[in-house]
Amino acid sequence: MTFTRSLHAGLLAAALTLAGHAVAQDKGTIGVSMPTKSSARWISDGDSMVKVLKEKGYKADLQYADDDIPNQLAQVENMITKGAKVLVIAAIDGTTLSDALQKAADKGVKVIAYDRLIKGSKNVDYYATFDNFQVGVLQAQSIEKSLRLKEGKGPFNIELFGGSPDDNNAFFFYDGALSVLKPYIDKGKLVVRSKQMGMDKVGTLRWDGAVAQARMDNLLSAYYGNARVDAVLSPYDGLSIGILSSLKGVGYGTPKQPMPVVTGQDAEVPSVKSMLRGEQTSTVFKDTRELAKVTANMIDAMLSGKKPEINDTKTYNNGVKVVPSYLLKPVSVDVSNWQAVLIGSGYYKESQIK
Ligand code: BGC
Repeated sequence: MTFTRSLHAGLLAAALTLAGHAVAQDKGTIGVSMPTKSSARWISDGDSMVKVLKEKGYKADLQYADDDIPNQLAQVENMITKGAKVLVIAAIDGTTLSDALQKAADKGVKVIAYDRLIKGSKNVDYYATFDNFQVGVLQAQSIEKSLRLKEGKGPFNIELFGGSPDDNNAFFFYDGALSVLKPYIDKGKLVVRSKQMGMDKVGTLRWDGAVAQARMDNLLSAYYGNARVDAVLSPYDGLSIGILSSLKGVGYGTPKQPMPVVTGQDAEVPSVKSMLRGEQTSTVFKDTRELAKVTANMIDAMLSGKKPEINDTKTYNNGVKVVPSYLLKPVSVDVSNWQAVLIGSGYYKESQIK
């Protein structure tokens, strides 16, 4: 009897698991719109999103837009037409999606801004990202530490680079960095020889490494003929690589003329390798697996009529409303902790780096 009962219970459990599985496969399609494959971080984001959505029983319609705004618009519209239940969008230009999002709202489709804020639309339900101001703070602290500014060293020459002006994050990174650097600039301990400051002067459209490289070439030839640049604030690894090439081109990176401090973001493989070669100084790691998890949890909550978990209701005003957000913590990485952070967390295998 006991045996039969437990057998029945076992069968029932198995049947429920199977049924649960069948139901889990049928929770609908989520549109995931990513900006570009030209940077490894967005490929990780896309892969992680597909994986976590699958685990939760959703299908993912993942599209990359080649950093082309009309392309992203068409992809998003197509997702809506095909019946996506939720749109997860990392926008190329945060201001260009309003009409498509109105169509989504009219059909009851929810929208999550993924990593980058979507601006100028009320039809953005949630925002999942990292603490973007803190990213900039970490970048600047790496400069502060390497140059020993807190100990009163200086003056040093620095040049500043910003991200893409159509990406809201770029302003947060810049402002976060300047919150640390500005007092040293004001005291004359950091000198921007070019005087190029502010996002309107230092922004880099579409986060393009070649654009950053060309600007660095110009800065070096116009302002550093007989002076040394000691630090370069770079907001993203792809720009850092361009900046480093430019520096190498005029002889930096030798024992007589060491590289300046150069920051970065995203812990992309070429930049981790560059750090190990003693070129790039630091980067900021943002675990895209965690961002995907947060986003998938938001989706699950919304679709089951629950409130998604958020931890910020003040910071991200998109011009129409403050978008409720979940901010993850970025982590500063340099040669001292890359193994613990990047390999220890399983984000990379050591063989990818060495
Ligand atoms: C992201 C950064 C990334 C940059 C360039 C930003 O919106 O937050 O992680 O470095 O875009 O892709």
